[in-house]
Amino acid sequence: MAEVTVVGGGLAGMTAAINLARRGHDVVVLEREERIGGSPLYHPSGQGSPLKLDALHAYLGFEITPGIEPIREMAEIAGGKMLPIDPSLIHAYFFERGPRPTSLDSYLYELARGAGVEFRFGTPIISQEDMAQLPPNTIVATGLHFEGFDALRVPYLTSYHFTYKGTCDPDLNYVHMFHDTYTSDYGYTSALRGIRYVHLFNRRKPISLTDRERFAEQVAEYDGFEVPEFSEFTFPVPASTIKTPRLLAGNKILAGTLAGAMDPVAFFGLHGALVSGKIAAMAVEDKERGWREFQKCVSVYPTAYLLGRLKEMQPLPLSVLGFRIAFQNFERLKLAQRIIVEGVPGYRCLRLHQGVRS
Ligand SMILES: Cc1cc2nc3c(=O)[nH]c(=O)nc-3n(C[C@H](O)[C@H](O)[C@H](O)COP(=O)(O)OP(=O)(O)OC[C@H]3O[C@@H](n4cnc5c(N)ncnc54)[C@H](O)[C@@H]3O)c2cc1C
Repeated sequence: MAEVTVVGGGLAGMTAAINLARRGHDVVVLEREERIGGSPLYHPSGQGSPLKLDALHAYLGFEITPGIEPIREMAEIAGGKMLPIDPSLIHAYFFERGPRPTSLDSYLYELARGAGVEFRFGTPIISQEDMAQLPPNTIVATGLHFEGFDALRVPYLTSYHFTYKGTCDPDLNYVHMFHDTYTSDYGYTSALRGIRYVHLFNRRKPISLTDRERFAEQVAEYDGFEVPEFSEFTFPVPASTIKTPRLLAGNKILAGTLAGAMDPVAFFGLHGALVSGKIAAMAVEDKERGWREFQKCVSVYPTAYLLGRLKEMQPLPLSVLGFRIAFQNFERLKLAQRIIVEGVPGYRCLRLHQGVRS
């Protein structure tokens, strides 16, 4: 079979590569970093997502269990008040990201290598000229990096991020979500396998020093540690329009964040990356089939974008109050739990997929 090139050795790129190699293709992954595990700016890290694991495993054709584990404790801190959440209600899992041997990235890398995938590290594809030289049906899955969006002219918003990563007791396993007037998005802290991670972001504008300090004060109160300093950077995030999710750009096939497989309300992109990697692999062999599958997966997006826009139109204090009321009643709000689980890109796809019932 023909050789397939994949740009970006992250979750989406490796999912596509494993599926194609197992179907007999010669697959080459071009990765910007010198090793697996993405950008050292923000990895290693513990990232979280709701998952219906059995359905996801059946869909992907491989298990992801070694790189993930259930989240044991969760809480929402809305307007400075802590509200515990039972993580099992939303099937919440931790993903270990980054270059450590225990990460999901390292696990997928081993699966890919076992299937015969070739990796070329230190190979960034950064310009329109670089991209134009790659063969048709190349899969591009470069995640939250500007070059991929710019080289393929995929529209994006610039999002502002403040993070801290450090170490902690390896037995700690929790996520705290923070909603307050310091951002129209949110902050979170996580502790997983000895990695401590703090992240505050706003998809519209930078966050002032005073607001970052207010967030850090809440982290000190509820996590019991002082954030020594924040690293600052910007990401491209899929633009907020109902046309955003896209499988194709010219003769290239998109996957992961670049395809817009990212929940437009809560910014969850892990699950969408895996599912869209599988779909990109389908599209290499049969564009029509891949396109139909993609449409099924993203059919929830118009509603999600509308919800996101409605949320953005609320004055911030009102929106924080809404979060507090929702999480105070979370155990009773079956609909909210369903929206969180099923609003994640790809769940609809898994439900509809023949033979997979979740
Ligand atoms: C700090 C942070 C926290 C997050 N937290 C969560 C969370 O808690 N829950 C959640 O669901 N989602 C979260 N996300 C989003 C989630 O990580 C992404 O949506 C997901 O990783 C997307 O997968 P991907 O395969 O598209 O990109 P990635 O997994 O990021 O992989 C992209 C790969 O492409 C490589 N690359 C980039 N540019 C080039 C280039 N020009 N040429 C060659 N290679 C290139 C990168 O080095 C990387 O290896 C978070 C993202 C960040 C950055």
